[in-house]
Formats: sequence, structure tokens, C-alpha cells
Amino acid sequence: MNNNLRNLLLIGSLIFFTLILYLGYNQNLLAEKISFEEFLTKVKNNEIKTITLSGKANIIAQTKEGKILRTTKDPDESLTQLFKDYGVASSTILTLEINQETGNWKDILYALIFNVLPFLLVAWIFWQIFKQAQRGTTQIFSFSKSGIKVYNPNDPDRVTFKDVAGLEEAKQELMEIVEFLKNPDKFFKIGARIPKGVLLVGPPGSGKTLLARSVASEAGVPFFYISGSEFVEMFVGVGSARVRDSFSIAKKNQPSILFIDELDAIGKIRGAGITGAHEEREQTLNQILVEMDGFEKGTKVVVLAATNRADVLDPALLRPGRFDRKIILDLPDIKAREEILKIHLRDKKFSKVNLRQIAERTPGFSGADLANLCNEAAILAARRNKEFITQQELLDSIEKVLLGPERKTKAYSKKEKEIAAYHEAGHAIVAHYLPYTSPVQKISIIARGRAGGYTLKTPLEERSFYFKKEFLDELASMLGGYAAEKLIFDDTTTGASNDLEVATDLARQLVTKFGMSEKLGPISISQKQREFVLGKEYSEKTAELIDEEVKNIINQALERALKVLEIKKDKLEKIAQVLIKKEVIEKKQFEKLVGDKKGSLEI
Ligand code: ADP
Ligand code: MG
Ligand code: ZN
Repeated sequence: MNNNLRNLLLIGSLIFFTLILYLGYNQNLLAEKISFEEFLTKVKNNEIKTITLSGKANIIAQTKEGKILRTTKDPDESLTQLFKDYGVASSTILTLEINQETGNWKDILYALIFNVLPFLLVAWIFWQIFKQAQRGTTQIFSFSKSGIKVYNPNDPDRVTFKDVAGLEEAKQELMEIVEFLKNPDKFFKIGARIPKGVLLVGPPGSGKTLLARSVASEAGVPFFYISGSEFVEMFVGVGSARVRDSFSIAKKNQPSILFIDELDAIGKIRGAGITGAHEEREQTLNQILVEMDGFEKGTKVVVLAATNRADVLDPALLRPGRFDRKIILDLPDIKAREEILKIHLRDKKFSKVNLRQIAERTPGFSGADLANLCNEAAILAARRNKEFITQQELLDSIEKVLLGPERKTKAYSKKEKEIAAYHEAGHAIVAHYLPYTSPVQKISIIARGRAGGYTLKTPLEERSFYFKKEFLDELASMLGGYAAEKLIFDDTTTGASNDLEVATDLARQLVTKFGMSEKLGPISISQKQREFVLGKEYSEKTAELIDEEVKNIINQALERALKVLEIKKDKLEKIAQVLIKKEVIEKKQFEKLVGDKKGSLEI
């Protein structure tokens, strides 16, 4: 049970019992107080059933009607004597049930409870608050120990290389590290220099964290884990103290692995910022450099780090003796995707699935996306009351992972539906009639995630090289939605904003990265140079030229999209009308409506 809940229950029950005790006690306190004379009259009149003497003076009496009365007598006189003095008949006295409460233990107990308990309760609450506060401050001042996590290599949930599909080259390189950690002296004897730092670089979800953990269990050494973002705290100096601590823990437990995830959170190029947060990051980064340089000869600690942005890392981190070995993790290719699907279906029930087909349809998916896809398929199968995951669930999950869940609840107005239909039909028609685009798989105007509708296109093949003409055709089809709105409604909507963003990004890459602009020629202007004002190595004129070229490419793409749509306006209308009626068009039906892709236009 959670601590807070337990405390709450404890306080609650304490209050509850106190109340019950208090009420029991107060039965007497609440009793009606009468004078001794009145009491005697009642005794004389035979109205009293029981009398309880509490101490020497207090009398609690119960009438035959059940009423409780309270009175006091002279403590020096005995009750029977007083009765006799006042002339109560002996026969009456005999019918009375008289109890003597020996001592005042009950009063003492109650007094104790009511005077001491509240005090104890308050004291206890204060103690709790105090402890909480203390914990808070230790978190601020000795955070260092709490920040680092450790994976035991013998953990039953451990992952090994077997759990990592694809990434063969990366595994190969890491085997060397494993070998070293298993048998370091063999390497030291020959005088081999073992890399101190290994940097895993790859897009999010490509398995960096997974791979690092598997190295730990392969090598059978402790694995200390900390995320870069955890180093960066509000207080200057905290991050560097944490670094110092992490390294010293790793060294104490050598041979061991120290894994710094998301290194880019701290390792960004120094001197690029102005605010305090940057200063803190800089100190933290410096501390990492100091620690790595300070490894004595023979230290059996390998520092692994992961990042998805190697391009923004400070060059000082990449110097020899630091993270001098880089391992690139790519997104999985078709074979690896199939393997990853297999791994993630291992502990699920499935029947008659064709994983090759799923792998074919998921280019660009990361390992994490595929893991997610398998889980979505399982959820979907359960919701459909199936006993097994089938191919259909896997196929349906592709779109879910790609675009987020369907939003069937949000109904379009009639006009909105029309706009969405023409917009998506525009993408599809342009993609279909231009020669170098990939074929249309599916068109839908059912809103999904942030997208109002979507046109799914799957590249037939994954290649290492793409031609400029292919990019230009893709750009035109990206603008197909915008063009269709312009052509049909003589206006444009906000629905195209995401298309424009993606298209502009791509156009900018053509100009600055792929050397595909006529005016700029084969020049690469890297991300780094564009992002950091200090390192800007090109002139204002070049910047203007880039912007101009990007604009030209986009405008040309729009022109071409418009031209296709004008020529094929009848098909555009047809597709849009079917979409309005059915909301979804699959590949086969689409090709039936527009003919196959061979009859493309050359524009
Ligand atoms: P990263 O750290 O690169 O962002 P992770 O290592 O955290 O990615 O991967 C997230 C999840 O995706 C993993 O826990 C695993 O389930 C799955 N995954 C990623 N890559 C692979 C792979 N190559 N083989 C098997 N599963 C993978
Ligand atoms: Mg990760
Ligand atoms: Zn669009």
C-alpha cells in the first residue's frame, strides 16, 4: 500500500476510536445534573434503580425509567449513612443496586486519553510533516545517489542480444565491448586501448536503450543507468555533482557499464545559450569530460551513451578518449521489421499471420512503433472477442500507429466532409497521375489523431538513393490537397497546414542537403550551421537564396498539382463523391475508378 494512504487510514481510525471512547465517557457527562436533595427525594419515592459511586463524591444514578442522573455528595459521609440521616426506608435501600467503582482508574484513563492522545496525534502529524520536509531537502542536496538506477545483469526480465532484432552491425561492435568487460585483463596485457565511451546514435525508438541493456546482461556486469535530462536540474551544480557521483558508483562496481541515455540533453554545443539553464548544462557537460579524462589506466568501466541527435553534440565529447566510437542504429529494414514483429508476438496468441506483409507495409516504422503495433493488434483482437490475433488486426493496427486512433465520434458537417473529400482526392489523383510517386494504398476521410483524413501511400521498395524527380513528384502530391481546395472551392482551408509543413521541410532539404537546387548547386548547409547563430558560415545572401529556392520548389510543385487536377478534374470529382458516400477507398477500388498507374501524365 502507498504510504500516504496508510497514514490517512491510521489517522482516520485513531479519530474514530477517540470519538467512540469520548461518546462512551460522555454518556455520564451528558447525564442530567441534579442536587443531592432532589436525588434523595427520588430515592425515597422509589424512582431509582441503580446507583454507581464513582470515587468518594460522584454519584451516577439510573431511574427505573432508564434516565441517567448525576449528582455529588459530601465525600466524608458514607452513602448509607446519608440515606439513614435523611430517613430513607431500609426496605427501599435494600432494593437499590449500589455499585462502587473502586479508585478512579476509569477517570484517569479517560483523562489520559483526552489530554494525551490529541497531543500525541498532533505531535505525530508534525513528525510526519517534518520527515516529509527532510526528505524534500535531501532530494535537493543529496539527489546524487537517488538519480542513478541499476539493472542487475541476472534480473529475470533482462534482455539479451536475442531480444534485439536486426542491428547486426551494432551488435557486432558491441560484442567487442562485451568481450572486454568479461575478460579485461586479456586486453590490458597486450596493451590494447579499449574505448571508454561508445555513442549509440539513432532515431527515437530504434532500440538504443534496449541494446545498451542487452550489452549489460551479455557481459554479466552491473549496468548503471541515468538519463541526460535527469542531470539538468534547476540548481546550478546539481548536474555536475550527479555526474561525479554516477561515475564514482560505476568505478566502485567495476567492471561495469555506465549508460547515459539522451546525452543530447546535456551534450549540446556549448556557448550557444544565454540563460542560466545553459550554464548548468555546460557545467554538467564539463564534469562528464573531466570524469572521462580522469579514468586511470585499467579502469574497467565502459561509458555508453545514446542520442538521436549526434549532429548537435559538442565536438569535445567526440574527441579521442571520450565518446570516440560511434555506433549508428538505423531504422529497421524489411527483414529486421519482420524479426521485430516476431519478437513482440512471441508472448501473444496469434494465428495465420503473414508478418512479411506487415513488414512490407511498415517502412519507416521504428522498433518501438512495431512493438506498439503488436500491442494494438492484441487489444483490437480482444475487443473483437477473438481468441487470436489475426492478420486483419495487424493490418488495422498499422494505421492506428501511423495516425493515431480513429475519431469516429467527431462528426463532420456536410460542408466539412466535402472539403475533406476533395482534399484527400486531390492528394490521391496527383499521386496517381505523376510518374514517379509511390502508389496510393488507401484514401480515407475518417479523422484520425490530428489528421482530418489521409491518403496512405506505401513505397514499393526501400532504396538507398532517391532521384530528384521522385522528390518533385512527391512534393506535388503533398500539395495535391491544397491544390484541390483551390481548384474546387476557389479558396484554401486550414486543413492543409500539416501538408505545407512537411512539404516545406522536404523542399528545404533538397536545397540545403541534397544539392538539388539549380541556383545553389551542390552545396551542403548543415543543420548545425543553420541552428547556431555563432557558427553561421554562410552569408545573408546565401540565406536569401535558400529561402527563394525553397519558395520556387514549392510553387512549382503547386503548379504541377494544379495542372494534373485540371486535366483530371472528372476523376477528382468521381473520387471525392465516392469518398463522401463511403468515407474509405481501398487500393483495388481506387484503381478500378481511375485505371492503373501506367497511364501517367508527363508534366
Ligand atoms: P530508443 O532508446 O532508441 O528510443 P528503445 O530502446 O527505448 O528506443 O526502444 C523502445 C522499444 O522498442 C523497446 O523496448 C523494444 O520493445 C522495441 N524495439 C526497438 N528496437 C527493437 C529491436 N531492434 N528489436 C526488438 N525490439 C525493439
Ligand atoms: Mg531510449
Ligand atoms: Zn492533406
